[in-house]
Amino acid sequence: MKYITRFAPSPTGHLHLGHVYSASLAMQAARDTGGLFLLRMEDIDAGRCRPEFELGIYEDLSWLGFKWEEPVRRQSEHMEDYEALISRLNDRDLIYPCFCTRKEIKAEIVRSNAAPHGPEGLVYPGICRGLSDRERQRNFALGKPYALRLNMVKATADIDLATLRFQEQDKGYIQCNPLPFGDIVLARKETPTSYHLSVTFDDAIQGVNHIVRGQDLFPSTHIHRLLQALLGLPTPSYFHHGLISDGKGRRLSKRDKDATIKSLREYGYQPEEVLKMVKYG
Ligand code: GLU
Repeated sequence: MKYITRFAPSPTGHLHLGHVYSASLAMQAARDTGGLFLLRMEDIDAGRCRPEFELGIYEDLSWLGFKWEEPVRRQSEHMEDYEALISRLNDRDLIYPCFCTRKEIKAEIVRSNAAPHGPEGLVYPGICRGLSDRERQRNFALGKPYALRLNMVKATADIDLATLRFQEQDKGYIQCNPLPFGDIVLARKETPTSYHLSVTFDDAIQGVNHIVRGQDLFPSTHIHRLLQALLGLPTPSYFHHGLISDGKGRRLSKRDKDATIKSLREYGYQPEEVLKMVKYG
């Protein structure tokens, strides 16, 4: 099978060695199978994404010798697509507006003396799930900020959960269980999408059939598999690779300035040397 893979960074900081590791594995998988390697800018977060980071990504990847298909898909240019997906879910009554502040959610968790933990942290306690139409309209009229949440129980009710699986490289089929995530946020008042919604849709619309990304995103795949089922999208195969750590065994992050490709270039490293640093993970 010819793999169509992608590297999908968010231009919220400079690329570091962990990104290069991920991009190299994806590119290699495409190359080995005579497939395609795509690049996508996951730039939905207008507050945190910056043009200089996006430019830096192109520069770093070119310097390292990566070649990708053009044009690059930039998520910020496709907000209407995501809005249409939200409308489809809304027409099926699978999402609802949540007007809670973080403080209110925390207070409710303390009050109910239950702090259900899902794979991605505290589970939303459902405060706004049962709001009447009138209450919702009143909150909209007041101009309150809101998030659009997936009603998880309703969304999974008509799905045979046993069929929700995906193929993980070297591990076979993984059974998904999105229920413990609770009512996840799929969009917000100011941004008609979320990471989960846009990544799932974009992989499908770009024909990506093999997703290579870090192990940290493994839990998210349970949600993506559910969204694929809800939206009638194909399920790619996955490879969630191990994460690169710094010399002290800590996971590299955007805060590790020394491990950015920009600083390695400035220190005088050559592209081959940088690629060698990630060769064995
Ligand atoms: N945009 C995500 C990130 O930079 C990666 C998304 C993905 O590979 O699914 O962490």
